[in-house]
Amino acid sequence: MDCIFCKIIKGEIPSTKVYEDEHVYAFKDINPMAPVHILVIPKEHICCANKVDETNSIYVAKIFEAIPKIAADAGLEGGYRIISNCGPDADQTVLHLHFHILGGKKLSARLV
Ligand code: 5GP
Ligand code: ZN
Repeated sequence: MDCIFCKIIKGEIPSTKVYEDEHVYAFKDINPMAPVHILVIPKEHICCANKVDETNSIYVAKIFEAIPKIAADAGLEGGYRIISNCGPDADQTVLHLHFHILGGKKLSARLV
């Protein structure tokens, strides 16, 4: 499967890792949109939020258990935003489920 995030997990494409456990890998976004911009991904290939089900939701739970640790390590005491784009209408560009963590400044441009 030609998935860049699967290759990042395997170390075939370099990344700046900030967190890893049995289920979760997190690394700095290559094109940061905020002073802190981290991508948190499941170690199993799941294309997007639309493909989360009872067979793989453990990965989403583990991601959300990891996020407070990742945020604390990144110094995001003031808060942060979590975004997951799903499908073409949301302009998802990498088809491996990921959660953007954005912070390090007062964020603007909110949609909701
Ligand atoms: P999406 O647009 O699918 O929500 O987000 C994909 C994100 O992956 C983008 O923010 C983009 O900058 C990031 N990205 C794409 N390719 C790479 C890569 O090879 N390395 C890293 N670190 N980030 C990547
Ligand atoms: Zn993948």
